[in-house]
Parts: sequence; structure tokens; C-alpha cells
Amino acid sequence: MRQKLPFELAKDRSFFESLGDWIGDVLYDELPEKGFDCRDEQIFMAYQIEKALKEKKVLFAEAGVGTGKTIAYLLPAIAYARYTGRPALIACADETLIDQLVKKGGDIEKLEQALALNIDVRLAKSRDQYLCLKRFQQAENIITEDWIDDIAFSMPEAVITHGPMRDITLYGDRSDYPTVSDEDWQFVNYNELMQCAVCDERNRCGQTLHRTHYRAAGDLIICSQDFLMEHLATKASREREGQLALLPEVSMMVLDEGHLLEYAAQKAMTYKVQARTIVSMLERLMVDGVREKTLYAMERLQDHHELFFDELRDVVTLGEERMRITKSQTLLTYGRQLIQDVDTLMEEFVFESEMYMIPEYELNMAEEFLEHYVAAMRIFVEKEDAVDWVEESTDGFTLVIMPRLITEVLQETLFSKKLPIVFSSATLSVDQDFSYIAYSLGIRDYLSFTVASPFDYESVMQIHAHQVPQQQKATMVERLLQQPKQTLILFKSKQAMDAFRATVSMMTKLTMAFEGDRELSAIVRDFQAGDIQTLCAYHLWEGLDLPEQMLTRVIIYDLPFPPNDPLFDAKRAFAEDAFEEVELPFMQLRLQQGMGRLIRTANDYGTIELLLNEEEATLLPTLQNLCAVAPQLA
Ligand code: SF4
Repeated sequence: MRQKLPFELAKDRSFFESLGDWIGDVLYDELPEKGFDCRDEQIFMAYQIEKALKEKKVLFAEAGVGTGKTIAYLLPAIAYARYTGRPALIACADETLIDQLVKKGGDIEKLEQALALNIDVRLAKSRDQYLCLKRFQQAENIITEDWIDDIAFSMPEAVITHGPMRDITLYGDRSDYPTVSDEDWQFVNYNELMQCAVCDERNRCGQTLHRTHYRAAGDLIICSQDFLMEHLATKASREREGQLALLPEVSMMVLDEGHLLEYAAQKAMTYKVQARTIVSMLERLMVDGVREKTLYAMERLQDHHELFFDELRDVVTLGEERMRITKSQTLLTYGRQLIQDVDTLMEEFVFESEMYMIPEYELNMAEEFLEHYVAAMRIFVEKEDAVDWVEESTDGFTLVIMPRLITEVLQETLFSKKLPIVFSSATLSVDQDFSYIAYSLGIRDYLSFTVASPFDYESVMQIHAHQVPQQQKATMVERLLQQPKQTLILFKSKQAMDAFRATVSMMTKLTMAFEGDRELSAIVRDFQAGDIQTLCAYHLWEGLDLPEQMLTRVIIYDLPFPPNDPLFDAKRAFAEDAFEEVELPFMQLRLQQGMGRLIRTANDYGTIELLLNEEEATLLPTLQNLCAVAPQLA
């Protein structure tokens, strides 16, 4: 629904002139009168965004913590959405941060109340954040635990009884089920195997109901950068299949923590080949009346596919989240064989399409699927600079293949569209030079600025550096925790957090919450309320925004160097000096973000405890330059 502009458009003033006047009135007068602390840096940022909207350009907006970036971009974004009749899109760094932006007492709610704006904001989460009705029904038949009954009881009755659509309200968002663990959620959420286009439950399923809801947003759609990239990567193929794109057309975009877009793009521009999908998809086509030659070609493809995955299981290095592949000659031979098998089958499909024994829609779906499959296989066997690995989930093995060039794809699908796009982050440049990020994303024409944080860090924050052997870090944490404070412990990976968990005493563990045990935003809410004193996490280096006594100590358990997985190995391999160009910048950026969790407002205070093993301690001189306050050796 089109919303009313928040200001009157004067006849002799353009929209952008009126927008500039309104931004000035709001940030210089209205909000300060209502108790908001509006800063010059924030006002400057809002005007720079207005300029980017007017010129339809990319803007790198680098503003230190405490500038008030959110309000600075919300004002022009909302006004521009209402002017153009299309919502503005805000893409957060992480799925878990979406709820943070719209939480009670957050900037959107504050702005809405202060300016009586009635902001129409809707969340668009990744599809796996919603319940899949089909998978829930299957799980209900085999799982007898309480959590599955809890989900069933919370569903609108009309979903279960097949009652009228008007009685079905929105349901099925991951955050509606805070007590369900991430592991259990994997049994009932949407996954890539689901064929929504041909699903008979799609009108009443939580995932599709939410999609219809957010598409109609009047002002703002908030999603993760991963989901935005998934939208861009699938837009053309979905439209070819007659399906709606995952996101609607928008008027502008804000990429919150925009420095992370490259990683989201790499993730989305990958091909995935599941061990099971092709088998079940081909079985659906083996209907009565299909020609023998086609059946034979399908069976041959299935057999070789299974042999390929058997061999793959033998050549991956187990243990890592992204498992490394050693490409054996046998594996490559099976891969080439599969390409031939698909070509043969596609030829048979031409004849089948004239016989009408296989339903036309199923045949089209299979052709689409096989085109994707064979493209992935070609990259796997032929392209030496492609990056590939294997992931394992409850659905089995998945081969992931990532062609290297994301810059071309981003240029074609995003940056050539004359769409205003604002990158907002505390860290986008190297000494105010934005060419590194622009180059890595394929952006040629952009505006940029940098403003520093207004906080007096010296008087509110202390950083203690502890030199401690790796195996004694858990004991050091227990010692620090004897002084009770609301504490966030940040780990570089899940494995690091699990290793700590296995070492720490049972008594200490009772006072802690660990990421992954429950839905993350529910854990954060309990931490915020003080029900939990220590929060252990490996994803909260960014985005957590807890003021004053809600968070007064951050323990950095390890320096957050990138993982040893094929994705980062590829970056290392293409760098002249992997440590200087990949390891160090990644760690520095992430460490700065992690330390930035502590001081969020002018009233915040607290300590940062850096636990450094012998190797990490050699970087202390580098850390001195990086930190807002010089670390003191403890
Ligand atoms: S539409 Fe998709 S997500 Fe929904 S129930 Fe069907 S298969 Fe599952």
C-alpha cells in the first residue's frame, strides 16, 4: 500500500530539495526536542544519502560506532520509498540481525513514535527460516518429542483442518519457536530439495504466506545479505519458470555492515549438487509409457551419479564444516561421464516432449534441473580456478561449486541498474581509500565519505591483553568470570566454542548460554534481560547492540582469523602475500567489529579481555594501532 510522504511537496521545490529540508528539520529540531542525540556526523551522512538517491549512485558510507547510522539512512529511505511507491530494502549482515533491527525499543520503533510515521516494515528472511508444511507433516509422523507438538499447537487451526484461507494468519517463522534447537529445526524447515512450484500445500504453508506478506511492504523490507544474494542469483531462472522473484522491485538499498557483501555474494553464486536430489527427481519421471531408451538413459545417469558420490565420500577430508576434496582421476572420470549422460538424456527428452507421457511441467522442471546440474559438473571437472567443497547435513552430502568471478555477476544483476545503493559500515576503507572494496565487488562509479566515532573511548573502555597458553584459556575465562558482569565471549568458530565447552567446569557452564542451543535471538533476549550472565557465541562479532549494563565485558577468546577451508584457501592462493592480504585484514576487521559490541552509546562502559596465546601475542604491536584504546598487558 502506498504511504503518504512525511512532508508536504512544495510546488516550486523538487522532491530532493523538500527531502533535504525535511531531513534538516527532523535532525536539527524535531528529534532533539524529543530527546534524541543527533550528531553533526549523522546529519552529514543523511545528506550524503540524499545525494546518492538523487544521482542514483552507489555510496560507501563509512561512519564510526555511535554516529547514529540507522536513523541517518532510515529517514531518506522511508521518504524515497513513499515518493517512488516502492519499498526500500535494508539488507543486514546476518539472518539473526534482522530481528534486532525491528526489536521493541529499536531505532525503527523510536523513529515511528517520535515522528508519528506509522512505518510499514516487513521482514524477509531466508527460506530456511520458515516452516515447510510438507516436511513438518513428514516429521510429525516419525518424531514424538514435545517440540514437534508445540509447533503443531501453535499453528492456525485452519492449516491443520484445511479450513478457509481467511482464517490462516502468518505462522512458521523460526523466531516463533524459540525453544526449538537449531538441530531440531533442520527437520521441519524449508530446504533446497523442496519443490515449492509443484507443491499442493503452497497456499497454506508458512514460508509462502510470509513471502506474500513482505512483498506488500509499503516502506521497508528487511532481509539478510545472504537472502538478497539468493534473490539475485535465482531471479532470472525463477522468472523463466513463471515464478515470482524472491524479493519485489525496490526503490533503493541499504547494505548494513556492507563490507560483508562479498562473502554473501560468494555464498549465493555457488552451484549445489545434492547426493539425493537427482535420484528422487528422475524417479518421478519414470511413469508408465515412457520410452525404453529414455528409461535406460535415466537409470544410467542415476547409477553414475551414485558412483560419483560414493567416490566423493572416499576423497573428502571429514571434520571441517566445508570439507576439502582431493580430486581423484576416478572422480573426474565419473564427472565427465555424468556430463555425457545428461546430454544423452536431454536428447531423449526431446522425443518425450512430443509423446506427452511425462507431464509437461515435470519435464520442464527436470530439464531446468539438469541444465543446472551439468553446468555445475562442467565447472567441477574443467575449471581449475573454481572453488569446491562438500557440506554434510541431515539431508546427506552436498557438493558445492563456486566459480570465482562474482564481480561480473554483481555488475550485471545489481550495480548496472541505476539503483541507489548505500553501503553502511564502520569499516569500509583502508585509510579512507575505498578502492579495495570497490574493486572486489566490481563497482566502478561511486560516492564515498568517512566520519569518525564521537565516543571518548579512553574514558569509558579498558582493554586488557592476557598472554596465556591456548590450553589454559578456559581456566582464565573462569577466573575472569568470578567477577560477575554481563559478559559476551566471542570465539572464532563453532569448533573453538565446542572445545571451550568441553573443557570448562559444569558449575561455570550452568551460568552460560551457548549459540546454537536455542534460537539465537531468544538467547539474546534472555541475556539482555539479565537472565543469562554469560553468552558464548561465534556469530555475534557483528550486529549485537546491547547498551549500558546489558553488556559490560567482552572476552575475545581467539583472534578471529579466517577458517582453514577451501573458500579461504582460494583467496589465499590468489593473493601475493596471503597473510597480509587475506588473514590479517579479515582478522582486523572482525576484531574491530567484535570489540565494537561493547560501546554502543555515550553511556556505555566496560572492559575487553583479549586472550592471546603465544603466537597471537606476537601481533600485539599491530593490535595497538587497531584498538580505540591501547591494550594494557594484564
Ligand atoms: S510450498 Fe515449499 S516450503 Fe511450503 S510446504 Fe510446499 S514444499 Fe514446503
